Amino acid sequence: MKIYIVDDDKDLTKFMVELLETAGHDVSYSNDSTQAAKEIPKQKPDCVLLDLMMPGMDGMELCKLLRGKKSLATTKLIVITAKSYAFDRKRALNSGADGYINKPVHEKTFAAEIERIFADKMDLTFWGVRGTLPVPGEKSLRYGGNTSCVTIEFARGAFFIFDAGSGIKSLSDWIMSQGPKKIDARIFLSHPHWDHINALPFFVPLYIQGNTFEIFGPSHGDITVHELISAQMDGVYFPITIHEFASSVAFRDLNEETINFNGIVVKTMLLHHPGQCLGYRIEYNGRSICYITDNELFLESDEEHYDSFYVKNLIKFIEGADVLITDTTYMDDAYASKVGWGHSCVSQVIDLADRAKVKELYLFHHDPDQSDDDIDHKLATAQKMLKDRGSKVVCIAPHEKMTLQV
Ligand SMILES: [Zn+2]
Ligand SMILES: [Zn+2]
Repeated sequence: MKIYIVDDDKDLTKFMVELLETAGHDVSYSNDSTQAAKEIPKQKPDCVLLDLMMPGMDGMELCKLLRGKKSLATTKLIVITAKSYAFDRKRALNSGADGYINKPVHEKTFAAEIERIFADKMDLTFWGVRGTLPVPGEKSLRYGGNTSCVTIEFARGAFFIFDAGSGIKSLSDWIMSQGPKKIDARIFLSHPHWDHINALPFFVPLYIQGNTFEIFGPSHGDITVHELISAQMDGVYFPITIHEFASSVAFRDLNEETINFNGIVVKTMLLHHPGQCLGYRIEYNGRSICYITDNELFLESDEEHYDSFYVKNLIKFIEGADVLITDTTYMDDAYASKVGWGHSCVSQVIDLADRAKVKELYLFHHDPDQSDDDIDHKLATAQKMLKDRGSKVVCIAPHEKMTLQV
């Protein structure tokens, strides 16, 4: 990349130039923002790194000025600053910045972080891939034994968490290991069954002042998401109540709807599962991830339950997604005795993914009686079914802590 750095701190500029040149980038710089404002439109770099507090023209002003230039429409503007206040981060992003990195500059991660913001991809991580019940022990060492939790991190700083099964404890440990850092996240719950909410009380960032959370999920008639969460932490079933959350937490009930969070679009759809359960489709910069669990598709031969209208709607909802994460709890033979339990079997998931022409299918929410070897077998079966249909869908069985960029 062609990178231009604007920072009045000469030593730090030198350090950043060294790090980025070592990573193979072509770097220019200026310690004077007024001079940089003149040079940058001429040089048309791929990426500008700018400090906020500078004499003369400050970084916010420079950011606005550069963003207003048509010739720099594709140039990424990244703020590198010692100011860690949420207010400044929001103001910078509103002024047209594509990313916001807090100083000090870390030698090991700096170049990679700049490259990540430049690529502007979604970082998808699995923290728990199982359903129903956590399964610790020797049979779940490879895929992990935790229940549902998946995150999407956006380069511009947004952080989405899907479900709060026992996997959220590992997410909590990872966040806490990063040192003091303010978290501003949205938690989307598919539904309030235990395996999707019961580790929320163990998510430590909720108890830290200065953090901000919004918790979304489907209401259950006259029971709101707020009530669903507080009920499992009422002092009897868990000794700590939600009044002890020191972070700022807001709750919001969802139905089938579309919400736009600064260019990140979240769509929801009600799923076939006991009680209200929502599937999510996240769209950003022409890419999409669908999180569809828990969900029962039924067999087409089951005239009593199979709902072709629902399946068509679901296909439309997930159509063309880059990633589909979906409930594939059972092998077909085991499903025969589990009809009506709210979960799907392999053949129906394959049919769904192929008809919807998703690019990658992630098998999710495994039955607690399945060992790692059983999941290997499920994956091999799914891959063979796709091959037999001549499908282009790539099928993966994710393991805990697996991360990919979408
Ligand atoms: Zn579940
Ligand atoms: Zn469920």
